[in-house]
Amino acid sequence: MARPFQLPPLPYADNALAPVISAQTIATHYGKHHKTYVETLNKLVAGTEFEGQALEAVIRGTASKTDQTSLFNNAAQTWNHTFYWKCMKAGGGGKPPRAFAERIDGAFGGFDKFRAEWINTAIEQFGSGWAWLVADGDSLAIARTGNAAVPFTMGLTPLLTIDVWEHAYYLDYQNRRTDYVRAVIDKLINWDFAASNFEHAAADHNFVPVMSA
Ligand code: MN
Repeated sequence: MARPFQLPPLPYADNALAPVISAQTIATHYGKHHKTYVETLNKLVAGTEFEGQALEAVIRGTASKTDQTSLFNNAAQTWNHTFYWKCMKAGGGGKPPRAFAERIDGAFGGFDKFRAEWINTAIEQFGSGWAWLVADGDSLAIARTGNAAVPFTMGLTPLLTIDVWEHAYYLDYQNRRTDYVRAVIDKLINWDFAASNFEHAAADHNFVPVMSA
């Protein structure tokens, strides 16, 4: 029996992101949704050929298998949430570090255009999903995925994400997804995490941030 996947600790206190994301939302989103993805993943992976593999390998191995949809969904949602928590910090937002900001300017024509494209992509994701900043080879791009899907099974390296499932914002913003996305970008994004991911991606186009725990 392989060691089960663990729910990683939050990288900050449950009230650290308030008022943008309340402690009540964290209690439900991290304490119930994320926890349940991990627990379900452990139940589903037991006894399969994927038991004992790293989380990223389980996701890659099940992404295109139509008889492993539930295992993929729970593995990918476990990865997505651990990554999402790392994308934010108390006192985040603002402008990226200079070198990374220059790459954003080059890719999108300026930070404001980048910000607008990310917000629009998050709004236009119909139903549940994720709005990403990714590395596509040496360049940067905005991407969206539906439900549990992850960019790295599509050859894109995740640098940042925003969860746009309703459970991520409904307690704090009700149906106002735009207000939630704007507030996360402007006040919480951990730009040092994004810049670090991009440095790794630039050095190795197959790099995937490791979220196994
Ligand atoms: Mn979520």
